[in-house]
Amino acid sequence: MKTRYSLLFLAFSVSLVFYLGSCSGKKQQQSTEKERLPYALVIHGGAGTIKPKNMDAETKAQYEKALNEALDIGENILKNGGTALDAVENVIVYLENSPLFNAGKGAVFTYEGHNELDASIMDGKTHKAGAVGGVTIVKNPIRAARAVMEKSPHVLLTCAGANRFAIEQGLDTVSPEYFYTESRWEALQRRLEKEKKKEPVGAREEPDAHKFGTVGCVALDKQGNLAAGTSTGGLTAKRWNRIGDSPIIGAGTYADNATCAVSCTGHGEYFIREAVAHDMSARMAYLGESVQEAGEHIINEKLKAIGGAGGLIAIDQYGQIAMPFNTSGMYRGYVTPDERKVGIFK
Ligand code: ASP
Repeated sequence: MKTRYSLLFLAFSVSLVFYLGSCSGKKQQQSTEKERLPYALVIHGGAGTIKPKNMDAETKAQYEKALNEALDIGENILKNGGTALDAVENVIVYLENSPLFNAGKGAVFTYEGHNELDASIMDGKTHKAGAVGGVTIVKNPIRAARAVMEKSPHVLLTCAGANRFAIEQGLDTVSPEYFYTESRWEALQRRLEKEKKKEPVGAREEPDAHKFGTVGCVALDKQGNLAAGTSTGGLTAKRWNRIGDSPIIGAGTYADNATCAVSCTGHGEYFIREAVAHDMSARMAYLGESVQEAGEHIINEKLKAIGGAGGLIAIDQYGQIAMPFNTSGMYRGYVTPDERKVGIFK
């Protein structure tokens, strides 16, 4: 009897050892499958009704050149061991200085004919974040957002106070006329005309390539840290100091080293209501979804179902990326040590 029990026990122990062995084998396999890229960076320049028939070859080439130059700036920083935060900030500064995008220099006009700019940045390692909304004289709102994060005890500063903070921090300021561009001014006039005629003016249905162009960047650096940032002029003809999702942490921007870094673009009110950027991180953390699964679900199911037009860029801790959008186009691009791509249309 005793020998029978001993034999049974022996057989049980042997199979347990084999079972545990195969489990750790699986684990090992999983972690090698998910090797972390040394660095990766993704950008967007806005999502909307961007169709090939509305864009001539020269304009297309201009956008592709700008997207590639932005990727160059980010890749240089990351390749040389720079931080994800520095890459995100400097890429966005470049895009803000370009008149092509609805951020910084190329910001759209408010109903009253002014420019009010929003931006935010978040560090996935520390969960620190900074943002500005409705600034009117700050040349690079993303720099002001970073200063809020690093030099103030706050997360979000707005309007006159945010302008004053930027001046106190010694950031570059400009006179409001700096933000004038003819194409954005004309877009406002067209919009006001429509409103006068009481034609329906959905927030994003106008087939005008110049109407879009919020910018964003997410990055993974060689230390394994993630960061995200977003900058915008908001929506053409916005009123009453309207602020969109771009400077709202958890809506337009979010970063957490344990999950992902996200930057959104689109009809901001929907992105705020659905807390889109944080939802990306939450789905990955609580449901175990990949960055692509979470992005697809939020943009092409959840937001689409309620009429929320737009897209996002996201990157996870391994350098896996997602760039889903439910509009006809999104200016976008990514770079890793072995790949680089830019795109505009679906
Ligand atoms: N999300 C921005 C806003 O609503 C606009 C955009 O991304 O085009 O302010």
